[in-house]
Amino acid sequence: MSERIVNFSAGPAAIPEAVLLEAQKDLFNYKGSGLSIMEMSHRSKAYDAVHQAAISNLTQLLNIPDNYSVLFLQGGASHQFAMLPMNLIQNNESVDMIHTGSWTKKAIGELKKGYNYQIVASNEDENHLKLPDLDNVQFNENTAYTFMCSNNTIFGTQFKTFPSHAKSPLVVDMSSEILSRELNINDFGVIFAGAQKNIGPSGVTVVIIRNDLLERSPESIPVYFNYQNHAKANSLYNTPPTFGIYMASLVFQYLLDHGGLAAQEKRNNDKAERLYGAIDSSDLFYCPVPENDRSPMNVVFRHKDHNEAIEADFIAVAKAAGFDGLKGHRSVGGLRASTYNAQTIENIERFSQFISAYKPATVSA
Ligand SMILES: *Cc1c(COP(=O)(O)O)cnc(C)c1O
Repeated sequence: MSERIVNFSAGPAAIPEAVLLEAQKDLFNYKGSGLSIMEMSHRSKAYDAVHQAAISNLTQLLNIPDNYSVLFLQGGASHQFAMLPMNLIQNNESVDMIHTGSWTKKAIGELKKGYNYQIVASNEDENHLKLPDLDNVQFNENTAYTFMCSNNTIFGTQFKTFPSHAKSPLVVDMSSEILSRELNINDFGVIFAGAQKNIGPSGVTVVIIRNDLLERSPESIPVYFNYQNHAKANSLYNTPPTFGIYMASLVFQYLLDHGGLAAQEKRNNDKAERLYGAIDSSDLFYCPVPENDRSPMNVVFRHKDHNEAIEADFIAVAKAAGFDGLKGHRSVGGLRASTYNAQTIENIERFSQFISAYKPATVSA
């Protein structure tokens, strides 16, 4: 295949083509240094400029205040599920958990290893398809933090707002939506995200943490697991994922050059409106998530009778037409189009038309 396809993969996911081409240009000989960025010492001057640019571009994009630190770690978002309680919990404090699906379940799994927690809201009864109303949640005193996942990659849900009455700093897994919309960073204690959905290649985990929380890290935990240690070393305690950070810095620059997050949020809403519109007006498919809870990043849909043969046919015909990565997560089945930042409005428009025109090969009587 010589043409690139439209990549709807949930992650690792599409990266802006302009960024891939720029990286390709610099891959062999980075800006006349005689080396690839991948071959360079993480203590070199050239790499240091990349590292600083990544931090300052992200700070500019999200308008991150001075009292927060930006960390580039490894181990994915999954590693954060363990690192957060190790660092933030003091004196047997509890954690308030908002449980909305597989990712929060994994975070709860780490808390079960000897920490106190309470599930203050859950949508397990709704099969995670409808989000819990957070306005009337009773949060608990003496909690170290309040944990939630803002965008559920598997079920296709997204919280449009964040609770303002939690009793402890909000810690939010934003892996599948970071940089998709404007945020007020002051509303959060910690934001974290694996890079492979909306930032760049896998291998980098972005953590944005309020500096007073760094004081909580106990010295007894392993050095690599200690946020304070990474903050003091500016994410250069040991060898960071240099190539991933380089790619992230290019993506951040790309977003800044295209109007920042206000403009990106508008493009994402435009894309979501077109795609959900095509699904809602289809005779064959429907979206199981109520309108207010729908994610603009992961669009989940199904055949109206959950006919798996028709869903498989749709995936195959779509693939032949150049649209790939449409299979729902293995835990839920169905169909899913991930429409992260790198997905263009033109591609979404073409795919929306494809949905409207699609006729299954084998029409069940
Ligand atoms: C993909 C994903 C994860 C897991 O990320 P890893 O980097 O593979 O550990 C966690 N949370 C959310 C919301 C995700 O989308």
